[in-house]
Amino acid sequence: HAPAHFRALLEMSRFHGDKVFLVYEDEHITFEEHFRRAATLAGRLVEEYGVTKGDRVAIAMRNYPEWVIAFSAVLAAGAIAVPLNAWWTEAELAYGVSDSGAKVLIADGERAVRLASTGVPMIVTRGDLPEGARAFSDVVGEPAADVRLPDVTLAPDDPATILYTSGTTGRPKGALGSHRNIGQAPMLAAYGAARATALAGKDFATVSAVRRVTLLTVPLFHATGCFSAMITTMFSGGGLVLMYKWDPGKALQLIERERITAMIGVPTNAWQLMSHPDFGKYDLSSLSALGYGGAPAPPKLLERITEHLPNRAPSNGYGMTETTALAIGNGGADYHAKPDSIGRPSPVVDARVVDPTGNELPPGEVGELCLRGPNVILGYWNKPDATAQTFIDGWVHTGDLAKIDEEGFVYIVDRAKDMVIRGGENVYCAEVEAALFEHPAVDDVAVIGIPHEELGEEVGAVIRLSPGRSVTLEDLQAFLADRLAKFKIPVHVWFRDAELPRNPGGKILKTHLRREILGA
Ligand code: ATP
Ligand code: MG
Repeated sequence: HAPAHFRALLEMSRFHGDKVFLVYEDEHITFEEHFRRAATLAGRLVEEYGVTKGDRVAIAMRNYPEWVIAFSAVLAAGAIAVPLNAWWTEAELAYGVSDSGAKVLIADGERAVRLASTGVPMIVTRGDLPEGARAFSDVVGEPAADVRLPDVTLAPDDPATILYTSGTTGRPKGALGSHRNIGQAPMLAAYGAARATALAGKDFATVSAVRRVTLLTVPLFHATGCFSAMITTMFSGGGLVLMYKWDPGKALQLIERERITAMIGVPTNAWQLMSHPDFGKYDLSSLSALGYGGAPAPPKLLERITEHLPNRAPSNGYGMTETTALAIGNGGADYHAKPDSIGRPSPVVDARVVDPTGNELPPGEVGELCLRGPNVILGYWNKPDATAQTFIDGWVHTGDLAKIDEEGFVYIVDRAKDMVIRGGENVYCAEVEAALFEHPAVDDVAVIGIPHEELGEEVGAVIRLSPGRSVTLEDLQAFLADRLAKFKIPVHVWFRDAELPRNPGGKILKTHLRREILGA
């Protein structure tokens, strides 16, 4: 029974023994405890729930330790783990369950209530049991010290996971990932982190000798949390500190209490951490790395980090569900030299930019970014058309507009679907947003296209002001005048006190915003 990647990784993680793997509030779970519970649950899934190779088992929880145990158990049993978005409504969860054809659900109490109507057998933790469900603690019981993984033969290209994409541009798609995809994830993440640290001019030997304790500020059910953070920690023997939900004040406390060395999340997390009124009140000296990605990181963010958290190693990682998270990253001196770039592709990833007919474009020209490598998933679950359109000859078409410079640095220009076309001229929202972030009164911003009879679209901006600040449309236009060409400058602006609607992945929900503002 040659162990395929994930099972090998899980068995190896046991060698980390009594070191703490998962931290949640005051619960600390060691690698040995994690292994025993995961292996026991895997056995129960096979014996009591009849789970066999290729069956789907859905996981619907907040970031609890049981999420990780369930994930490990499902893969160890040879089944496909289907992490469902914990923010989904009852109807969305029902879609995830029926789309994946899940045979068993492993949920927390809050999700269990919303999943009960699916009628699928359920194992529930942290909450009341709906009728017919079993308690997670009863199913796992007291794991035996000599527990072993159930017998199953897997090949590297066998499917392991179905993660749903964020649904930023449409209905979430199930991304079918393999054991091989998982196997390469810790390598890419560790390489990216090490490179960012070394290039930051840090004493690399000193930094890498300290055990890595990561604060995860994003959900485990998205690729960054699952692969770049959780799987990578499992492999390296570090600690993973989980939060029920993102809360910058709580993050500050945790960094001090748990001696966090790295924070992994989205750009807004780092931004909000530094803007919190209690920032300065905590000992953050253990924190040596700040990794973020998943959404555009304005160059202003790097400036702020350099000012407020000097001598750290910030890094911007680009990735997508379809690339098992991290694919391209920028850090250290490279990042300071080119703060608007997402960096160079990881060593096993090829990147190129193509025109609409699929021809590769020369350096500096804007086209669709395509990626190839062992991190590219098998395809979309149940969606042969979308798979055929997105995965072509081994290349994943990202839907992101980008350019690559002479040195191989990649710049995300915009999402193809976000771009505003004003009288035939392309306006990239991300560029206008980055320019607006430079204004001290702007705390958060989203640029959107507004329908216009003659021009097709005009540029509009929705702005959340920094506390105690005010500004007019005219002020902003004057501010942008020497930063952007005239046709890119917003002609409408909406100010609001409330936070901009973002999904848990840190992305602004522009479809919601457009509907809210334009009623369209
Ligand atoms: P859907 O595919 O369902 O519309 P989504 O594309 O937002 O949703 P994800 O796979 O979570 O789902 O996100 C990948 C996307 O996130 C990329 O295609 C890119 O647009 C954006 N992204 C990721 N990292 C970065 C980054 N560092 N800078 C800019 N954009 C990023
Ligand atoms: Mg996408």
